[in-house]
This record gives sequence, structure tokens and C-alpha cells, in this order.
Amino acid sequence: HREERDSPLRGRDGEGEFEMLSGGGLLAFSDARPFHGAYADAIPVVHKKKRVVVLGTGWAGTSFLKNLKDPSYEVQVVSPRNYFAFTPLLPSVTCGTVEARSIVEPVRNIVKKKGLDVRFREAECLQIDAVNKKVYCRSSPDNNLGGEQNFTVDYDYLVIAMGARSNTFNTPGVEENCHFLKEVEDAQKIRRTVIDCFEKATLPSISEEERKKILHFVIVGGGPTGVEFAAELHDFVTEDLAKLYPTAKDDVKITLLEAADHILNMFDKRITAFAEEKFQRDGIDLKTGSMVVKVTDSEISTKERATGENRSIPYGMVVWSTGIGTRPVVMDFMKQIGQGNRRALATDEWLRVEGCDNIYALGDCATINQRRVMEDIMAIFSKADKNQSGTLTVADFKDVIKDICERYPQVEIYLKRNQLKNFVNLLKNYQGNAQKEIIDIELFKEALSEVDAQMKNLPATAQVAAQQGAYLANCFNRMERCETYPEGPLRFRGSGRHRFHPFRYKHLGQFAPLGGEQTAAQLPGDWVSIGHSTQWLWYSVYASKLVSWRTRMLVISDWGRRFIFGRDSSRI
Ligand code: FAD
Repeated sequence: HREERDSPLRGRDGEGEFEMLSGGGLLAFSDARPFHGAYADAIPVVHKKKRVVVLGTGWAGTSFLKNLKDPSYEVQVVSPRNYFAFTPLLPSVTCGTVEARSIVEPVRNIVKKKGLDVRFREAECLQIDAVNKKVYCRSSPDNNLGGEQNFTVDYDYLVIAMGARSNTFNTPGVEENCHFLKEVEDAQKIRRTVIDCFEKATLPSISEEERKKILHFVIVGGGPTGVEFAAELHDFVTEDLAKLYPTAKDDVKITLLEAADHILNMFDKRITAFAEEKFQRDGIDLKTGSMVVKVTDSEISTKERATGENRSIPYGMVVWSTGIGTRPVVMDFMKQIGQGNRRALATDEWLRVEGCDNIYALGDCATINQRRVMEDIMAIFSKADKNQSGTLTVADFKDVIKDICERYPQVEIYLKRNQLKNFVNLLKNYQGNAQKEIIDIELFKEALSEVDAQMKNLPATAQVAAQQGAYLANCFNRMERCETYPEGPLRFRGSGRHRFHPFRYKHLGQFAPLGGEQTAAQLPGDWVSIGHSTQWLWYSVYASKLVSWRTRMLVISDWGRRFIFGRDSSRI
């Protein structure tokens, strides 16, 4: 039988299963344990709900929780923050275009769904024990009430969605002296520091040289976040602060440092060119080919790639935004399961962590293992070569490629970027004969290693994380049905070795806000749109993607307030 949540015969205290490690004593017990009361001997527990533990309440974890519909799970969510944050609007929070509380939604609001058994613990996962299926946790370090609480949570299924941390590439002084832009608290801190810099710069005791240094804002990293922050800051300074601090406005300088040759590398070249030109027009000092080697409390040292020259730049504030790295707890787990040499948890296309039972990983902390994908692709090719001649015609080859694209989103992304035609030419070149209409499979293997090197992992974006969360929840929703019919859903029977369709990423396009009410967008089909009208598209897409009506209303009213009254420059 399926257990009823509120059965009077089952013992529970409404807070679910966990054991105290410090403080002593059993606080609560699971459905698996018999009730220590009058009915305990009479009613043995026959079945228990499957325990799902979700680590993290970011894009991946929240999307999983929002899409989970099957009430037959007992879900525990562990995360050090009790809210979901809409990260695409974090740069807007740094300058007060949008208020921090407008982009967050309490997790308990999100999971408060009829019929589902979901509990939230504000704590961080310290360690995962895959052998004993346990997660070791500690109450959130941000909780000011004191008295650290440690506890363990048992699971049948574990969903790891802990995201990533900012990557400093071990550059000396970055951790101590730079701001990051990853969490809501980071954005609030940046906002306060920007105002601090202006207030300090206008004190009568400050010399002109000092004022210039204090008002020098440096952004490291020309990816979408760094670029958007630079643009936001420029707008904040020119539209609002320049009026309030007239004596300081001429000394403000914004510098954007990028180690590669261009900013916004992952975007179409037209967008990159437009952004670079716009920044030049706006007076944002864009330094490409400039690698930061050290940061002290007053200077940032760079090495110019082209000349090898070392430079020291005095600054007032640095924002570091150069990409993401692995969280220590995830790294420890990866070492435990033999993945210590990787940068993110390797999963298969069903998001199952390689080498682990019933553990799934999604979002920024995970990556689908390419190597296995490549082996699978080779197997598909060998199968297509029916008479084992070691060759395929170009026409057959294209059919197989189409098939593969359906199964493997990474290949599809690669081919979309580089055109199937170029790919076929690449293969022909390998054979030394561009006219040949036959593909040699052995040579294809060699070419594949070239493709492998160029093929990018799925990008670490909210879009990927949210789609993975929704995909996994749908698998969980159908899990029971699939266990009842182990041969798999009808369309996979016979040939299918898996119960579910592999995860497929659907790219919906990406935006790059460039300030001055202008945005660039790269939409599916490599359709590029830049300018003021795209800014309105950005407003509508982001308003529609916000997680609740409450946040939607708040963000829209923040935008309206900014249009009418400008941004608030109080330092609170
Ligand atoms: P996160 O959203 O980072 O969530 C991780 C969760 O794990 C958090 O709840 C965290 O508290 C929790 N956690 C951390 N440590 C532990 C622990 N030890 N135990 C338990 N829980 C833990 N993507 C886009 O697609 N479009 C954009 O416009 C965009 N803009 C961005 C702007 C900024 C400023 C930033 C920082 C990112 C942006 N991204 C954007 C990227 C996007 O936010 C990430 O790809 C996305 O958040 C990844 O989702 P996730 O669930 O994997 O991780």
C-alpha cells in the first residue's frame, strides 16, 4: 500500500527524519522506524516513502522542486539560504535599479504545494557519504542565532544542485581584496561600496590623486556578468551619481580587464563588436589581452599578453567576475568517487553521477561526461555501417549525425556553430581527398578527437540548470510507473537500455545588457538583435521568467520607480 502522510498509525512529528550529532538524543524518526507508542508492535511498517534529498535552492534545485508532482516521495531540501534568487537580475541590484528583496522568493513559499511532502532545512551540506547514503549537514553559518547544529540526513535518492563558487584561479590577493558577484549579499555589498567610494572621494581632506584612485572602478572579466555590471555602473554614475556628486563626476573611471582578445566571447562576433564600440563611446576603458596576476589593497597588477609588460593600476573598488570553480564540498565528494581530476561532477546524459547509485547532479556543479558520449557516438556509427565495410556514404553519414544530434545536445550545439557542411569537409580533409563521397569510420575517429576538443560542455547558465531540474523532476514523476513496467515506456521497449529519454538542452537564446537602455540578444538560429527594442524584449522575458507574481510585481515597480525617480543612492 502507499503510505498516507497523515496516517494516525504512523509516528512522525511533522519535522521528518534526522539524527542529532551534537546536542545528543534522537529528535525525530523516519517513516522506516516503527512508532514508539501504543500501536508500535501491532502495526509493522511495510512500505516507506522513498526519501529524496535535494542539496541547493538555486536554479537547478528549485526547478526540480517546482516540477516534482508525485506525492510518493518524502523530500528534504538542504540549503544555506532559505530563498531562491533570480541571478540574471543581480547586476541590477548592485546599483539599485532593482531592490534585492524583489528578486528573491522564500523556498518555503515555492515548495508549499498541496499533497507534496517537502521540508526545508536551512543548513549547508558538509559531506556526502555515498556508501551509507547519508548527507552530513551543519546549520547555516549565516544564521545569527548561534549554537551550530550538526545533523545527518539519510536518502534513497540524492539530488546535488549546489552550484559553483567564483573562481579566483588562485590569483594572489583576489579573495581578500576583490568583490564577487555571485550571491545577493555580494550585490548588496557592491552597492554600498560604490556609494562609499563617492562619499569618501568628496571628503575635504582627500587629495585629487587620492580622489582619482578611489573613484577608479575595475572589473575583471569580460563575460556577460562583468560586461553587464560595467554597463550598469556606467549608467548609475552618469544618470544618477553625477548629479549628486558634481565635484566627483569628472574623476570617475571604469576599467574592464579581459585576458582574451575580446569581451563576450561566447556571443556572436557582431555583438562583441557592438559592445566594444559602445564601451569605447561611453568612456569605459576596455583593456583586452590583460591578465591580472596580483591584487593588493590598493593596486591591481596585470601582465599584458602582447608585450609581456607588467602594469600596476591603483583602484578604489575591484569586482572579480572571471567564471566559476568547484565548491570544496563537491570537490571532496568527487575525490571520494574517483573524479578528483575533473572540474565538475561527471554525469551521464540522464544526469546520474557516474559510478554512484541513485545520485544525480545538475546545474553548475555538474557536467555531462563527453568521453562516454564519444564512445556512444562511435558505437552508433559502427552500427550504421551495416556491411562492416569501415565506410559510410556522406548521405548515410549525415543521417547518422542527425540521429546523434537528437540524442546528444552537445554535438548539436557544436554542429550548429560550425555547420554540418564544414564538419563533413573536415572529415574529407582527413582522408586527403575532398572529392571523395565516402567517409572512412576509422579516420572519423581521429577527426572526432579534434571535434571533441572543440565541442563545448553545456554552458553554466540558469537556462541549463532550470531545464535539467525540470527534466529530472519529470523522470522522478514517472519513476514508479517505470518500476512497474521495467521494460520501459512503449517507445523505448526493445531497443532502449534506459527508462527515460536522455536530457536534451533546448537553447532559447541569450541576452547581454549593454547599458543606456540597449541590449544585445542572440536568439536560436543565430539570429542577432541589438538596440533599444531588444531592451524591451529583455524586460518582458525577464519579467515573465521571474519565479512568482510577487517578485514580478516588485521588479516591474522597481523598474518604474527607477524611470521616474532614478536610483536610490542612500548608503544603508
Ligand atoms: P545556484 O543557482 O548557484 O544554486 C546553488 C545552490 O546551492 C544555492 O541555493 C546555494 O545556497 C546552495 N548551496 C551552496 N553550497 C551548499 C552546500 N554546501 N550545501 C547545500 N546547498 C548549498 N544564467 C543565465 O542563463 N542567464 C543570465 O542572465 C544569467 N545571469 C547571471 C548573472 C549573475 C550575476 C550570475 C552570478 C549568474 C548568472 N547566470 C545567468 C548563471 C546562473 O545564475 C547559474 O548558471 C545558475 O544559478 C546555476 O544554477 P545552480 O542551481 O546550478 O546553482
